[in-house]
Amino acid sequence: MFRFWKNEGLDICRINFSHGDYDAVLSTVKNIRDLNKKLNRHVGILADLQGPKLRIGVIKNNLVQLENGKEISITTKEKEGDAEEIYITYPQFPQDVKAGELVLIDDGKIHLKVIDTNGKDSVRCRIISGGPLSSKKGVNLPNTKISLPCLTLKDLRDLDFALEQDFDWIGLSFVRSVTDIVELKEIIKNKGKRARVIAKIEKPEAIKEIDNIIDVTDGIMVARGDLGVELPMERVPLIQKMLVQKCIEMSKPVIIATQMMESMITSYTPTRAEVNDVANAVMDGADAVMLSAETSVGKYPVKVIEIMRRIITEVEELDTIYHKEHTPQIKTITYITDSICYNACSLAHHAGAKALISMTNSGYTAFKLSSHRPKAPIFIFTDNRSLLTTLSLVWGVRGFFYDKYESTDQTINDLKEMVKKEGHLKSDDLVINIASMPMKEKGRTNMMKLSYIQ
Ligand code: PEP
Repeated sequence: MFRFWKNEGLDICRINFSHGDYDAVLSTVKNIRDLNKKLNRHVGILADLQGPKLRIGVIKNNLVQLENGKEISITTKEKEGDAEEIYITYPQFPQDVKAGELVLIDDGKIHLKVIDTNGKDSVRCRIISGGPLSSKKGVNLPNTKISLPCLTLKDLRDLDFALEQDFDWIGLSFVRSVTDIVELKEIIKNKGKRARVIAKIEKPEAIKEIDNIIDVTDGIMVARGDLGVELPMERVPLIQKMLVQKCIEMSKPVIIATQMMESMITSYTPTRAEVNDVANAVMDGADAVMLSAETSVGKYPVKVIEIMRRIITEVEELDTIYHKEHTPQIKTITYITDSICYNACSLAHHAGAKALISMTNSGYTAFKLSSHRPKAPIFIFTDNRSLLTTLSLVWGVRGFFYDKYESTDQTINDLKEMVKKEGHLKSDDLVINIASMPMKEKGRTNMMKLSYIQ
């Protein structure tokens, strides 16, 4: 539910560490944070680490024409590429690849098939589908088991930088297994930071291990650009639906990314198919729909957000996107909280409550309440300032800072008053508060109260 908009409606900014330098990033971060203060917003920041993205090197005169049926070699020795030989930024490529495997370049526009490898520094390929090729294009190896670590040296440097700047979310590209996420979380924890992790799902290996990955990560991104190259593209729509469904059940936010409004990079209006794509992502139950080149280099960065907001607002009129309540698992340490969140959402549904109001320090109840996709907005109060921007990614949640811990009755009244003062509720609206008693102990949520706004 995306109804807390001011201006055009951006909730979270992705900073893609595949592009730009640290000075440019610092000025963007400052800009976002200054605007947050000025507009009283909590726009969050996601650092997107490049991961083991493979690329070809520089091409002579920045253009070569590859002809179908001809041979081309791929070398691990750095050189300017031409129609006979191109360089790849992957030293172990000749050792990892096998005859018959596919090499896809430039988002799969160019298809090569491996003829043989010398196992050392060169791989011979046949051009299956050629065309123009320019410098530094991305390479995907859908059949090859890549022996590179998920966090490269560049990623580790970028991660240090992003953590120093207190980014809210860290996205990791080309996640292949649960250990990639565990390793990243360990680093964040050892640095004493609270940034959450987004696993970018774009490799077939990640799909095979998806339940475990969703279990350990804090959220996922359906990175449809690379996913549709690494897997047959016709599989992406159902995979998207499956991932959104699993994330809702496991209370993890999910972002749908890439080519959502691609034509608006140069066009003032989207195609009707793009409008349908955004609408479908909202109907699936995504927490966020993402723009890439449309806002980073596109001609209409504000217009594209406005149109996306209009599509989302329209689809949110539909009742079927709400009420995805799922019963909590019994005999778990979070059962009491999970049960309160589940029952609060069910009650909100049946009683027609106008809001769910909760307090949290870790954010747990915000993620849980949101996962039931209640029709009532979720107002989260916290004394943890960094959580306010983190929660901007989470469906239907609006954060408020609150650090007084009076009696339960006093606090509940305070919170209701604050939401009313901000114009989200009016007298006689029925609301549901959930909280932890005794409040001063800041323990797990264990109580629910139904009352009217005064
Ligand atoms: C993608 O492949 O869809 C994606 C989001 O990755 P990036 O924009 O980082 O290439």
